[in-house]
Amino acid sequence: NGSYPNESETGQTLVIGSSGFIGRFITEACLDSGRPTYILVRSSSNSPSKASAIKFLQDKGAIVIYGSITDQEFMEKVLREYKIEVVISAVGGESILDQFSLIEAIKNVNTVKRFVPSEFGHDIDRAEPVEPGLTMYEQKSKIRRQIEECGIPYSYICCNSIAAWPYHDNTHPADVLPPLDRFQIYGDGTVKAYFVAGSDIGKFTVMSIDDDRTLNKTVHFQPPSNLLNMNEMASLWETKIGRVLPRVNITEQDLLQRAQEMRIPQSVVAAITHDIFINGCQINFSLDKTTDVEVCSLYPNTSFRTIAECFDDFAKKISDNEKAVRKPVTASNTDIFVPTAKPEAL
Ligand code: NDP
Repeated sequence: NGSYPNESETGQTLVIGSSGFIGRFITEACLDSGRPTYILVRSSSNSPSKASAIKFLQDKGAIVIYGSITDQEFMEKVLREYKIEVVISAVGGESILDQFSLIEAIKNVNTVKRFVPSEFGHDIDRAEPVEPGLTMYEQKSKIRRQIEECGIPYSYICCNSIAAWPYHDNTHPADVLPPLDRFQIYGDGTVKAYFVAGSDIGKFTVMSIDDDRTLNKTVHFQPPSNLLNMNEMASLWETKIGRVLPRVNITEQDLLQRAQEMRIPQSVVAAITHDIFINGCQINFSLDKTTDVEVCSLYPNTSFRTIAECFDDFAKKISDNEKAVRKPVTASNTDIFVPTAKPEAL
């Protein structure tokens, strides 16, 4: 919008992982910002839901390039041919180390003005979850050090939690409705976390890649309005569904045990959930490094969606689902409508 320094001239942007959970938000925001947006899609990525996600982005103007970041020679060709200036990677937790060959390609081509590696969570140089979360953080950390060693211009996005119910066994909580039967509350439910709407993760990431102030910085998302604890989240959701649900406590030991089971990816999520809601990893540090920047200070005039608004969306989905599953049980003119299924996953 011209209110912050713009360093990119043409803005050709390549998004990797567009068919994924976070990648979809990033790609949509990129397209909404009017940037020429290229998306790298693996040809093996052929599930119907992924294909429809890609088609949706294509219809919005994304240009599809088929390939994998593990093919360094191909990636160099892509970066050169399409004059890519910004690369945003949102590869999943199991593919973090695949980014080594991408970094090598970016280094060799030497024309990329900003690289955003796949992070989109906590500041991995600060947080220290138990295993197996720690292994993923160490992998992300290796990627950071390689980027820095190669002198590639970067921004690390630490957007904290996605606005959704923080299920301890689900990597994509915003794809699932908040509870309709009972809440599982971690610890005493008083430790706060930042819950950021997926669309805002995309929007602020895209704003920050065009900004000199985020060059070689760690970009923290800490909107005060989105800082809630689990007890507050539960009460808010109760107001949206108009009823009170039982609360079951999940202790620190329970979470640690789920982490120790080493079921991937559920145990990774359990380890990170433990770090957030028991250790307070999103709130137990101050932004005191010269490399720290915070989005609310950078863009004070741009607002975040509130959790209440995000919960309204979930509540609307429940009501839409209920309408869709109601069907007449008599053919008379006094039709009775009966819900045939309880809405759960979206
Ligand atoms: P997903 O598993 O949903 O998607 C990963 C995407 O990366 C897919 O599109 C996949 O393509 C693509 N991909 C993987 N490997 C390659 C490759 N070699 N070449 C090209 N594309 C590839 O990832 P998530 O969205 O869950 O995770 C993205 C990041 O966000 C991670 O760093 C994760 O830790 C973080 N995250 C943060 C959350 C939060 O609440 N803050 C929640 C969830 C994730 P394909 O379709 O072919 O498999």
